[in-house]
Amino acid sequence: MRLSVIGCGYLGAVHAAAMASIGHDVVGIDVDESKIASLSRGEAPFFEPGLPELLTEGIASGRLRFTTDMAEAQGAKVHFIGVGTPQQKDGSAADLTYVNAAVDALIPYLSEGDVVAGKSTVPVGTAATLAERVAPTGATLVWNPEFLREGFAVKDTIDPDRMVVGVREDGERVADILREVYHPSVAKGTPFIVTDYATAELVKVAANAFLATKISFINAMAEIAEVTGADVTTLADAIGHDARIGRRFLGAGIGFGGGCLPKDIRAFAARAEELGRGESIAFLREVDAINMRRRDRAVDLVVSALGGSVFKKNVTVLGAAFKPHSDDIRDSPALDVAVRLHGLGAWVTITDPEAIENARERHPQLNYVADRDEALRGADAVIVVTEWDEYRRQMSPEHAASLVSGRVIVDGRNCLDAAAWRAAGWEYYGMGRP
Ligand code: NAD
Repeated sequence: MRLSVIGCGYLGAVHAAAMASIGHDVVGIDVDESKIASLSRGEAPFFEPGLPELLTEGIASGRLRFTTDMAEAQGAKVHFIGVGTPQQKDGSAADLTYVNAAVDALIPYLSEGDVVAGKSTVPVGTAATLAERVAPTGATLVWNPEFLREGFAVKDTIDPDRMVVGVREDGERVADILREVYHPSVAKGTPFIVTDYATAELVKVAANAFLATKISFINAMAEIAEVTGADVTTLADAIGHDARIGRRFLGAGIGFGGGCLPKDIRAFAARAEELGRGESIAFLREVDAINMRRRDRAVDLVVSALGGSVFKKNVTVLGAAFKPHSDDIRDSPALDVAVRLHGLGAWVTITDPEAIENARERHPQLNYVADRDEALRGADAVIVVTEWDEYRRQMSPEHAASLVSGRVIVDGRNCLDAAAWRAAGWEYYGMGRP
């Protein structure tokens, strides 16, 4: 099937390449010329495992191309909208400027029978408004939210846990077109849920709200553990054995970040207020507040471990990306902790396997070192803020001890073996752990 994908960022570039890999003829469209130039050369403009291979294969097969020219969307049967929906600069609601601009730019190229499939995360009610704009062209709008996880985006796009398609009352025909698009998953029996617009939009934000709540729940337990001497990791293991609770997403630490969870829960709360139901999800404000407090806690641990001040102390920060397997630094708790320590007068050195370039662009005032051992050299304290395997599994406490000036380690992700680090002579501080 001929498809267009509008917006070629973390979501769209992967979507375009993945759709070409399952046999479709895809054009990816973005307003960012340098991104399109890089994608057209078969180079991923960001780190995402498996994407470079898909791009190379897709381009070589002739089924995948990228352009800045919206006219090239003409002739595609399904047009996916995957542009950004960031937090508004002066509020917590979602900024729909890019979605509206993308749809408006697409409208002149739509034909009778085309399907416009929204994938961006939007406030409930958006699809109904956009459907009115698209209707005069004879095209139909559906909402098909995306659940991919950065770092696993290729797998999640080609083989998702479930697919959700929000349609108008008469939407079975369009739902069938989407079934055809996602034919390998449909054939495999992956749940394919056809529903109304509002439910489809809400499924996405509800899923993110739940995940954020789960993380903040365990971080709230970490706060209580900190004043009682309990160990939140053991607590999480113990409650996680209950299948109704589950252990995943119960990792206490410096909390969540990235381009989705923080802005999505804020936008959801803002939208609920507009709908007169602010109180229904007022708890999301608390979820957000707990999450932000963990960053303070991590900074406080470094400060107190260094005797009450980090001024002119060498602090090595291991990690900049908001999570491992990604170079995404949007609202990264890791980078936030680094910036705060720098603000307190520490000499901060940061390393990360993939995110240094992005981090340097955002915070050029910090010192970046590509090599982990080089970054550790001379440190008075070390803090792990992104749980890359390079720090979690591949860093020996004995070797690290030979490089630093002070054996102080703060485990902002509770991802290290505390006993092993202590045995190697380190003062070890976890989050919510004695
Ligand atoms: P991103 O910033 O990486 O990409 C957005 C892209 O849209 C950019 O390349 C930008 O240049 C392009 N764009 C903006 N206006 C445009 C226009 N008028 N026409 C064409 N292109 C335009 O963002 P992202 O992370 O890919 O997120 C996109 C959407 O997907 C958001 O709504 C996000 O919440 C949602 N989402 C993201 C993820 C994720 O893990 N990144 C997962 C699920 C859902």
